[in-house]
Amino acid sequence: MTEPAKKTNKGSKATGDMSTEDFRRFGHEIVDWIASYFERIEDLPVLAQIEPGDLKAQLPPSPPQTGEPMDAILADVDRLIVPALTHWSHPSFFAYFATSTSAPGIFGELLSAAFDVKSMLWRTSPASTELEEVVLDWLRQMMGLDEGFSGIIYDTASVSSMHAIAAAREGVEMRIREEGMSGREDLPLLRVYASEQAHSSIDKGIITLGLGQRSLRKIPTDDQFRMDTKALAEAVEEDKRKGILPFCVVATVGTTSTSSIDPVRSIVEVCQKHRTWLHVDAAYAGSAAVVPEMQHILDGCERADSLVVNPHKWLFTPFDLSVLYCRQMDLLRRAFSLVPEYLRTPEQDKVRSGSDYGVQLGRRFRALKLWMIIRYFGHEGLAARIREHCRLAKFFAALIEKSAEWELLAPVPFALVCFRARPPVEAETEEIRAKKLDALNEAIMHGVNATGQAFLSHTKLNDKLTLRLSIGNIRTSERHVRRIWELLNEQLARLRNPN
Ligand code: PLP
Repeated sequence: MTEPAKKTNKGSKATGDMSTEDFRRFGHEIVDWIASYFERIEDLPVLAQIEPGDLKAQLPPSPPQTGEPMDAILADVDRLIVPALTHWSHPSFFAYFATSTSAPGIFGELLSAAFDVKSMLWRTSPASTELEEVVLDWLRQMMGLDEGFSGIIYDTASVSSMHAIAAAREGVEMRIREEGMSGREDLPLLRVYASEQAHSSIDKGIITLGLGQRSLRKIPTDDQFRMDTKALAEAVEEDKRKGILPFCVVATVGTTSTSSIDPVRSIVEVCQKHRTWLHVDAAYAGSAAVVPEMQHILDGCERADSLVVNPHKWLFTPFDLSVLYCRQMDLLRRAFSLVPEYLRTPEQDKVRSGSDYGVQLGRRFRALKLWMIIRYFGHEGLAARIREHCRLAKFFAALIEKSAEWELLAPVPFALVCFRARPPVEAETEEIRAKKLDALNEAIMHGVNATGQAFLSHTKLNDKLTLRLSIGNIRTSERHVRRIWELLNEQLARLRNPN
């Protein structure tokens, strides 16, 4: 892949694809390149060390008139693309929710690109349709979810949750699919509830469905960032007194900022009392339920109406693959199924067609990679890797707890640690001291990220700038966690003693 670029592609034909001979040659070369990429990834800066616009400035503004040789294109991947990448596959990627691809997942993507099926109807890809049903049932069993749930794959949790809320809305029986919501005097305000810590995808889903942001009521959380069920019950009752129609509650198992777990078991009581749909956003933490001794994290979810889990977050699945489990698939179908004449098939009443359950017609063959991942690692292999990530997070949290200069800012139920430096800081007022600590922690984060050796991100908890260390990469080991601890302390020392 490092050969010098040639000007035109002499090997390309006027019609048709690349020859199978070239496909084989470059295919082997690319797989070799990926293997070397993983071998040398620790030598690359985790966070792209470029300025905005740097890559664009190096790319031609218009497309090539004639085809270029594959050698030249691949050489440019090395020269231009790799330096502009933030390496999510780096073992010291600790930002946001650290995730990772895996070899069987990459092979699944490769095959799926070759098959290029559009899984819209059963007959356009029987394999995709049937494998999806089977593999999602495997995942359901691994997570300990009951048989009442059936699953459907979407691209992201944002889209899964949007579809869950649409199914919940269909369940209010107000002919919204047929008549819409605008200009209707017979329609009360429809309300969705989620905690202040819920992911912004819930807000976006509500906006997309035309419910309007005023339809979302944010419920306060307790000192451990979990939804306050009493406040939820009071909010629902107050809304009902005002003629508002509560129709959906979103609980989160593994919130984005801290990975806190909403008390689903008590939330479900409120939902059942008021006949509202309960959707559980377990996009991040749901995968942890494949660890047998962690299945209690889904306590109460056996009574939920829907639940989203993202194998692309913590099940070693290349982006993208999100799963929505739903009890009432008929409602999801009622909200979205629309079969024009050109999509009618003789078998349609006997089979499931993915396009009946969402806004997309064509769907990628995502089940293939998940099937290959589950088969390759096995339930035990997946559980062992997630268990190890949780151990590493506890190990890091213990380092924080033992140090007088650092503090934990939230409990650590999974593999995410929220913390900050808290050295003695001189200041005239508490307010100034708080500002100085925020600035110090922000500088520590940027300092670590600038080394290229690790990548951290942040959030705000109780008004305090909070550093987040998320462990979710298949290559992360104790050595990487020890190193980030050193880096953090080096930055703290540097900032306290600038000379
Ligand atoms: N829900 C939670 C709890 C998340 O943490 C995230 C992303 O981090 C999402 C939803 C959105 O995920 P996606 O990127 O798959 O839409």
